[in-house]
Amino acid sequence: MTPTIQVPVPNRTQPFWLQERHALTDHVAAQEVPTEADIVIVGSGISGATCAHYLYKELQKRGSSSRQLKVVLLEADALCEGATARNGGHCKPLAFLGFRADAKRHGTKAANDALVFEASHLARYTSIVQEESLDCDLYATRAFDIFFDAEDAEQGRLDYEARKELFPQAMQDADIRAVYDREELCRLSGVKGGLWGAHYPAGHLWPYKFCTQLIEKQIQRGLQLYTHTPVQSIESPSSGVHLVHTPRGTIQAKSIIITTNGYTAHLLPELAEKIIPVRGTVCSITPAPSHQLGSSPGPFRYTYGMRKRAGESDYLIPRQGRGLSGVGDQSIILGGAKGVFLAKTEEWYNNVREDQLISGTREYFEKFMSHRFDGWSQGHQSIDRIWTGILGYSTDLLPFIGALPTRPEGIFLSAGFTGHGMPRIPGCSAAIVKLALAHFEGRQLASAQAAFEEVLPAPYLLTQKRLDEKENLILGYMGHQGGQEAEMTPAEEGTARAHL
Ligand SMILES: Cc1cc2nc3c(=O)[nH]c(=O)nc-3n(C[C@H](O)[C@H](O)[C@H](O)COP(=O)(O)OP(=O)(O)OC[C@H]3O[C@@H](n4cnc5c(N)ncnc54)[C@H](O)[C@@H]3O)c2cc1C
Repeated sequence: MTPTIQVPVPNRTQPFWLQERHALTDHVAAQEVPTEADIVIVGSGISGATCAHYLYKELQKRGSSSRQLKVVLLEADALCEGATARNGGHCKPLAFLGFRADAKRHGTKAANDALVFEASHLARYTSIVQEESLDCDLYATRAFDIFFDAEDAEQGRLDYEARKELFPQAMQDADIRAVYDREELCRLSGVKGGLWGAHYPAGHLWPYKFCTQLIEKQIQRGLQLYTHTPVQSIESPSSGVHLVHTPRGTIQAKSIIITTNGYTAHLLPELAEKIIPVRGTVCSITPAPSHQLGSSPGPFRYTYGMRKRAGESDYLIPRQGRGLSGVGDQSIILGGAKGVFLAKTEEWYNNVREDQLISGTREYFEKFMSHRFDGWSQGHQSIDRIWTGILGYSTDLLPFIGALPTRPEGIFLSAGFTGHGMPRIPGCSAAIVKLALAHFEGRQLASAQAAFEEVLPAPYLLTQKRLDEKENLILGYMGHQGGQEAEMTPAEEGTARAHL
């Protein structure tokens, strides 16, 4: 059952990222939506924003007449205030975690392809930021995965070694380095008590700035943006005609791309059992004197994923400017705290209460830094902000990307990123846009579908078979013993997929 509560809920907790709102926050191109559009994008998070970017990029390639297509972006809320404005800003590709579980389920090639696809995203962000001249604090760095539980560390190590044995070149290309010695691990990472770890290229950025500026650029190219305009339903009365109903009127559209994340089931009730809203939490912290510039150990060098056990992990990005004027703001972003609330399923599963904090998480975050980091100034507790946000978990823990088999042709979905969207979404948007455009133009559909399947990891493809699947892996993945585990141990499954 989907919750009957109004979504998004009013009076939401305020994330660090929304301290400066964009001028387009409440923008509407007109009081009423146009009666017709060529392509409608639903949702203005990172999925909708990157779809708009890649759409105009494709149109630019196709020449001047194509550029005049009427493209409308509809957002239920203010501009980009969903998960994208409430996340950890961490673009950390999975490097090996979950490899054996995915290989068992999808085959070794598909499992490796998915990791290669994720690793390509740092370059994607860099090129979007460069092409569009965005000012969004994009940093390229290395991420450290650190394991604290012996069994979990063993599973992580086995994933690492399994991928290395089967795909040594991919591991080398991805520059993934394991650290087996505990003292060396502490020395390199600055983290106490880790049993095993690995580090590899990753990045972080200010996702809200990235998306809002990206949408602003597309408006300059002709995109029509309507915020506070929820799509209430989509009707398809005849072949190739879709009616998009909103409180500002109805748009007749040929192609629709839906990027509604955790709220997808409100628009597509047939996905109510497939994409579940899951509540998560993040905070921002002022670094202790020990970790500021000029001190020892000083600013953090890495981003981190820290694992206690299956489903229970924390992640951190340092936004420290290293003393350069105007660069960074000295805040650390820390997310996770799942150990505090995972056992209370009602606190997170099918929960959209972004207006409330999750009990116990503030206290957990307050203690976290001195507990984990060597040399953190004693007694320094400085949470600036703490907030909650809604992730869209798919029941098989993988995104759903493609034409909706439940609807007539022309309706596409890119959703279900299962709390791990940053290193997946732009690549999915690039692919879905080409498919939607081919459909709109009504030509070379078979080759467009083949190209689409070629660029995306096979397990992401939206198929009727996946929708018909009854299993729900979410609880098992989060370490609940009662969850279905699809022939995997909780530890194996627990190393899979979602954001550390
Ligand atoms: C607390 C938290 C921490 C996270 N940390 C990370 C992290 O560090 N790294 C990482 O990779 N991922 C992280 N994630 C996940 C990541 O934020 C998401 O995968 C990503 O932002 C999803 O982007 P999106 O555009 O698909 O969804 P959203 O950003 O949620 O955008 C969907 C938009 O659709 C709109 N919408 C919904 N229904 C309708 C409708 N009917 N009509 C019109 N508009 C509608 C919503 O209002 C919303 O604005 C985190 C998520 C949360 C909540």
